[in-house]
Amino acid sequence: MMKLKSCPRCRGDVIVDWDHHGGYEQCLQCGYQHDLKNVVKVERRPVQEMRQR
Ligand SMILES: [Zn+2]
Repeated sequence: MMKLKSCPRCRGDVIVDWDHHGGYEQCLQCGYQHDLKNVVKVERRPVQEMRQR
């Protein structure tokens, strides 16, 4: 799955993918990576949260 222009850093295109511990988003332009916390149960939290706008 791919979300266009949804990177919070550079507004680039973000792909959504899953690995063995859950879902994540990765920006194709800048390499920004973000765990999908509504999908995956990860203990660590991203430092920046809820600031997508
Ligand atoms: Zn980006």
